[in-house]
Amino acid sequence: MAAPVSAPSSGAAPASVPIPQKPAAPVRPDFELAGPFIQGGVALGLAPSDALSLALDGRPVDIAADGRFLIGFGRDATASAELVARRADGSTIRRSLTVAPRAWRIENLNRLARQSRPSVEFERLRAPELAEINAARALVSDSQGWRQRFTWPATGRISGLFGSQRIYRGEPGAYHSGVDVARVTGTPFFAPADGVVILATNRPFTLEGYLLMIDHGMGLNSAFLHLSRIDVKPGDVVRQGQALGAIGATGRATGPHLHWSMKWRDERIDPLLLAGPMPQAAD
Ligand SMILES: [Zn+2]
Repeated sequence: MAAPVSAPSSGAAPASVPIPQKPAAPVRPDFELAGPFIQGGVALGLAPSDALSLALDGRPVDIAADGRFLIGFGRDATASAELVARRADGSTIRRSLTVAPRAWRIENLNRLARQSRPSVEFERLRAPELAEINAARALVSDSQGWRQRFTWPATGRISGLFGSQRIYRGEPGAYHSGVDVARVTGTPFFAPADGVVILATNRPFTLEGYLLMIDHGMGLNSAFLHLSRIDVKPGDVVRQGQALGAIGATGRATGPHLHWSMKWRDERIDPLLLAGPMPQAAD
């Protein structure tokens, strides 16, 4: 004989109406996952409804109040990953994920990388810049932008791909950390998703130039580099599609473009996978 369990939460049912009995089993006994699981990508999921905590390869992952969560896979993520949900009684629910590899654009050059020894002046400027960037990355917001389908902050010719890399006589250089959209200086750009401004530099940084960083919640954030103008300030809540400033060529840039990079925690994410194919340019 089944004992009555928790009543529906509506609470407004007249006393004469019998309250239907609900099964005691969890609403969601296992993970529900929407891929793709791919290097440089993010995936949304729903945790088992009785999960107390969640970890990806041993590192904790936050679960939203509605059970949803976000995981990401860096540019060089290994071919397999494991999600583990832990229940109140200590038991676990495990899910193995296969992470698809990408074919990164690798350029082998028969010359040495330009050896530019950082100057004393560079080092003097760089230390406080890195401190500001790291302080921004440590900020946590409750933005819900991570749930949205991202849009391109600017349309135009893609002049640099995430993950591309040059190898100088066998010595790999740093891979490109974002996607570049070539547009003239002064072209406005827009928030790709809801977020909170965590950094809007008051001066051009040596490498990034004028730099804007937006937190989308759940450890996911966007950075926009080489800007000519920033129209928002730290702490501002921005909505998807809102104008944020203008494209430029400040910092270390060979020409005007918008460099858009994304991170999920320490993992570098390819914005192109979130924004999808580039729509036709509006100009
Ligand atoms: Zn770039």
